[in-house]
Amino acid sequence: MSTTSPSLTASGAALLAAHDALLLDLDGVVYVGPDAVPHATASLRAAAAGGTKLAYITNNASRTPQTVAQHLRDLGAPAADEDVVNSAQAAARHLAASLPAGSPVLLVGGTGLRVALEEVGLRPVDSRTDAVAVVQGFSPDLDWSRLTEATHAVRSGLPWVATNLDATVPTPGGPAPGNGLLVDLVARAAGRSPDVVCGKPERALFDAAVQRLGAERALVVGDRLDTDLQGARTAGLAGLLVLTGVTTVPDLLTAAPRERPSYVAHDLRGLRDVHPGVDVEEGDALLVARCRGARVEVSSTAASVVEGDPGPDGLDVLRAAAEAAWRVRDAAAGRRAVDVLALVAQVQASIRQPPVRAAVDEVGEDVAPGL
Ligand SMILES: [Mg+2]
Repeated sequence: MSTTSPSLTASGAALLAAHDALLLDLDGVVYVGPDAVPHATASLRAAAAGGTKLAYITNNASRTPQTVAQHLRDLGAPAADEDVVNSAQAAARHLAASLPAGSPVLLVGGTGLRVALEEVGLRPVDSRTDAVAVVQGFSPDLDWSRLTEATHAVRSGLPWVATNLDATVPTPGGPAPGNGLLVDLVARAAGRSPDVVCGKPERALFDAAVQRLGAERALVVGDRLDTDLQGARTAGLAGLLVLTGVTTVPDLLTAAPRERPSYVAHDLRGLRDVHPGVDVEEGDALLVARCRGARVEVSSTAASVVEGDPGPDGLDVLRAAAEAAWRVRDAAAGRRAVDVLALVAQVQASIRQPPVRAAVDEVGEDVAPGL
C-alpha cells in the first residue's frame, strides 16, 4: 500500500536545481484577474535568470497568447509570446491535423480561439451551414443562439472538439461558469459528448510544451488539483501545488490519487526550497506520518496532529496530514471510516508564512515594492 499511493516526494535539492523547466499555470499561480500573485513575478525572474526554461500553459482559450504574454510582461514576468500555450492552440492543431486547409469550422468561443484557427489555416465560421467541424472554448460573450447553433451542428454528427472542461473560471467576484459547463449544456441538449478535449488534465498541452522547450525534467506548477496536478500525473511529470489559488486544505486532504501533487508551497518562492518527503509507518493499530518535526497519527477511530512543528516553510504539518489522510482514503478497509477532515483546524492553525527576507537572501533578487 505504502509504495502504490501517489505521495509527496522528497526533492533532494532545491526545485530549481532538480528541474530544468517550469510549466506554469497562470490564474491563481502568476496572476488572479488583472493582478500579480504576491512573490510570483520576482520568483520567475530569478528562475529565468538562473537558466530555468519557462512555459505558461493555460486552459483559458478566450485571450490570444500574445495578449496573455503582454499581460505577463506588464506584471513584470519574463514571457515571450511563444512561451504561452493555450488550449485553443491545442484544439486548432488537433483539427488541422485531420482537415484540409481552409476548412470551415463552427466557432463557439472567443477571439483567442478564432485566431488559433486562422493561424493553422482553418476558417472560423458563425453558422453550421457549411461547417465541417465544431470547436468550443470559453468566451464571456457566448450567447444562446450560438450555443443553439452548436447543438444543432453536433446533433447532425459533425466532429466536436472542446478546448477544456474546466467547470468554473475565476473572476474577481468568485467562480463563474466555465467552458465545462457550457460544453455540458450543448452535450445535454444534443445527447452526445465532445469527441476530443484538448486542455488540462489531458496531456497534449504538457507534451507540446516539454517538446518545445527541450525539457528533460520539467516541473508542472499549478493551483488546481483536477487540472494542473492531475495533468502532471497524467503526463508523468512532477507537480508543485501552490496555495495562492483555488485549492483549500480540505481539498488537499481529500485529493484522489490521480490529483495529488509531488510538492506543496505557499507560492512560487517555494521553487527555491528543498522539499521534504513524508515518512509513514502503517501498523494495524496506528498510522504515523512524519514530516521533519511534524507528526500526525491515525488510530482506528480518530486522526490528530500530535507534534506540530511547522518547519522552515510553515507547511510540514500540512504535508504530514495530507499524507496521512491520503493513506486513510486509499485504505481497503478499517481506518477508512476515520474523519480526516477533523485534522483541518489543527493544520490551518499550524500554517506559517515563510519570512520574506529568506526569499531575498537565498535567490539574491530584488523584491519590488508591493510584491
Ligand atoms: Mg489556475
